[in-house]
Amino acid sequence: MGALELKAVGKSFGKTEVIRGVDLTVEDGEFCVFVGPSGCGKSTLLRIIAGLEDASAGDILLDGQRINDVAPAKRELAMVFQSYALYPHLTVRDNMGLALKQAGVAKAEIAAATDKAADMLALGPLMDRRPAELSGGQRQRVAIGRAIVRRPKLFLFDEPLSNLDAALRVATRIEIARLHRELAATMIYVTHDQVEAMTLADKIVVLRAGRVEQVGAPMQLYNDPDNVFVAGFIGSPQ
Ligand code: ADP
Ligand code: MG
Repeated sequence: MGALELKAVGKSFGKTEVIRGVDLTVEDGEFCVFVGPSGCGKSTLLRIIAGLEDASAGDILLDGQRINDVAPAKRELAMVFQSYALYPHLTVRDNMGLALKQAGVAKAEIAAATDKAADMLALGPLMDRRPAELSGGQRQRVAIGRAIVRRPKLFLFDEPLSNLDAALRVATRIEIARLHRELAATMIYVTHDQVEAMTLADKIVVLRAGRVEQVGAPMQLYNDPDNVFVAGFIGSPQ
């Protein structure tokens, strides 16, 4: 049994089928990367796992429990978006602690959790600032810190580095890899960047038009892509 299992998951918007019969297992502690062209359904699949969209078909299991009907806030996962999605009127500290506050966690426990996440991400000096007083890279670190504070079983990242400049992208990518090791958490990470996929992933899932085209370890897909489409994304030149 994997940490996350998708069984015949489908999604239609009106008559348009955007996710088609997706079967997938993500193992406990695995770093799983979704790649594929723009519009192939990467974000939609992530949003279905997060509960931000309902699946039109199939089952989603987290640690063996079917979560299709579990409210997003009750799923033991946290999502980091490309756009940070921080509250402008709240300080970094309050942005990071908000989910715990809403869940009724005691103040001292929230402070301990936010301080620990701040340490991991070197956010200490920024805790009393508001998002407008931060750089893009700092905002994304706060968004990652906010996810860590909730101690989710599963982290979902939707192209978290695409708004950052090249140097910061590399630094933040290395930071995410370090967090994956330190937290021993399961992570699913969407990107269309081949280098990010190759360096971060234990397992790469190549999506095409709402279907899984191929799944494998980075070097396996690189050396032995099933077809020209997969090769075009991550394979060696054919
Ligand atoms: P990706 O993240 O891989 O670029 P998306 O998951 O965002 O792709 O989108 C997959 C397809 O679903 C696209 O054709 C997109 O236009 C469509 N889509 C996504 N969200 C909606 C929505 N809320 N209503 C209608 N169509 C949508
Ligand atoms: Mg997307």
